[in-house]
Amino acid sequence: MFRQSKRRVTSRKNFEDQSGLSSGKFILNATTSEEEKQLYETLYDSKLSFYTIPPKGEITLEQFELWAIDRLKVLLEIESCIQRNKSAKEMEVIVKPLLQKLLPFTTDNLLERKKDYYSHFILRLCFCRSKELRDKFIRSETTLLKLRFNMMTSQDQAKFVKTLDLPLLQFISDAEKEELSTQLYQTVSSALQFQLNLTDEVQRRHYFNQERFIKLPFESVVDLVGSRQVFIKKGFAYLPQFQQLNHIANEFSSMLSSALIKTFQCIPRLNEDDRLLPILHHLSSGYDVSNFLQQEQFGQASQGEVNATTVYSEKIRENFPLCAKNLMNGLKENHHLRYQGRQQLSFFLKGIGMNVDDALQFWSDAFTSGGNLTSEKFNKEYRYNFRHNYGLEGNRINYKPWDCRTILSKPRPSRGEYHGCPYRDWNVDKLTLELSQGMNLSSTQVTSILDSVQRTEYTVACTKVFEMTHCGSTAVEVNDQTHISHPNLYYERSRQLQKKTEAPVK
Ligand code: SF4
Repeated sequence: MFRQSKRRVTSRKNFEDQSGLSSGKFILNATTSEEEKQLYETLYDSKLSFYTIPPKGEITLEQFELWAIDRLKVLLEIESCIQRNKSAKEMEVIVKPLLQKLLPFTTDNLLERKKDYYSHFILRLCFCRSKELRDKFIRSETTLLKLRFNMMTSQDQAKFVKTLDLPLLQFISDAEKEELSTQLYQTVSSALQFQLNLTDEVQRRHYFNQERFIKLPFESVVDLVGSRQVFIKKGFAYLPQFQQLNHIANEFSSMLSSALIKTFQCIPRLNEDDRLLPILHHLSSGYDVSNFLQQEQFGQASQGEVNATTVYSEKIRENFPLCAKNLMNGLKENHHLRYQGRQQLSFFLKGIGMNVDDALQFWSDAFTSGGNLTSEKFNKEYRYNFRHNYGLEGNRINYKPWDCRTILSKPRPSRGEYHGCPYRDWNVDKLTLELSQGMNLSSTQVTSILDSVQRTEYTVACTKVFEMTHCGSTAVEVNDQTHISHPNLYYERSRQLQKKTEAPVK
């Protein structure tokens, strides 16, 4: 739908106006490739950027959307890591492969630099519209900057700090450091011990002697002042170099915050453009849940072992996410599921590898076992529906299993219905009971999950449950720790872990 040619983009009348969105320059100015090359070489001289000037050059609508989606996937993963209280090290392990795949930043490739630069600005357009979206965007972009900074060599880090040209980042002289050395050492000693793991006093002294200090107005680092991590004198805070990233991150956050407000003020002008608007809406609605899917891999963990009988086995069922368990329970209790529930469970089972013959057997057995429905009636009323789900009837579409986003976009289940996401649809008491008794989670773990539920971050709650129920019980390391945004991803990952420790399904 959004595949448009470059020529069509340049001919759009709304882009003929030369007024800028935030600083008097226009996003889609025509530039020669040589000009562009020079611009991005300057911007990325030190591999990282503060995104201070709007991007230049042409891109297609397709690039506009795809680049933004790729950045969004990275930011969603970061946001999920923040919500799951991952440490900086754990976050780096999770996000690094995604960064290398979707937003590489250490290469000299012009297109990759353009992608990084443009995608940041496109997402500014999407996420400037409400305070909540702005806060999330600032938080994840700032974390991305920190992650990337820590991944750079120390030479590149020094180069980047120099390019920032922040007037506040001035190092104090050796004489001043000597004069204040007692107070400075006292203040940073605990940070050296706990942040840099320098447990030995001699090591700390040695590090302190080599360390350089930055002097800056204390209000620039209020968080460090609050936690007494910096020495203050005459309104100035003395910051050790190893903590400068906090300062850089603060500067970046406040720059981004005011830039987002300015972008928001310019949005009405952009709203006249009927080609960009659907893309922007589509992107901004995707901030709550990730659609980072690897559907082609679904079904690999089971490899034909899920059929009309084994689907009831404990070994298969214990890998189901809560939504699928709920549907199976509903089916068992009622010998029936209403339309949305049938669709959700049918696609999920298809995704874990149940073939159409087994699916028909499974549904027929489940519907007729209560004695309310005969096989003939099942064949007459429901057979077509399940064959249709496998692309064997009607327009013969090979439907994909629903991801969490699709599930959450359906109407909430009413009485007697079991579709949807239990983290959203169950009340606190029912969910607490399931988490504490059904899954044996501790009260601290339950509280943490309920926190995410309260913030309407259902997929984060589900990812937490996955980690809590898999890391401790199996003693197998969860290699892939990315956010869970699909019931079949939950199943695949769980089954793969289970296979490492258990005998085959009988
Ligand atoms: S978050 Fe997704 S996978 Fe987890 S229970 Fe809800 S719908 Fe199912």
